Amino acid sequence: MMKCPRCKSTDVAVTVRNGNYSKFNGRRFQYSDYSALTCCGCGWPWRSKAKGVLALPDWSPEAEARYRAAVGVESGMQGEETDAV
Ligand SMILES: [Zn+2]
Repeated sequence: MMKCPRCKSTDVAVTVRNGNYSKFNGRRFQYSDYSALTCCGCGWPWRSKAKGVLALPDWSPEAEARYRAAVGVESGMQGEETDAV
């Protein structure tokens, strides 16, 4: 069971599975051993290649609703995948 490294919640969803959309690669998908995860309990984003990732659900409207309720944002994601400057 994967747990958030910050709040220890097990309510974790996969935002990008086995890869990333690097800004250094023209935002094209690039395969990686690592998947991008986000904690729906506290909003913490991180990357992992642990076997437990396979059992995690993909990001969903339900996950996003819990994430927004927990983090208190109206829209958008935190973390490295945003265009925020
Ligand atoms: Zn957390």
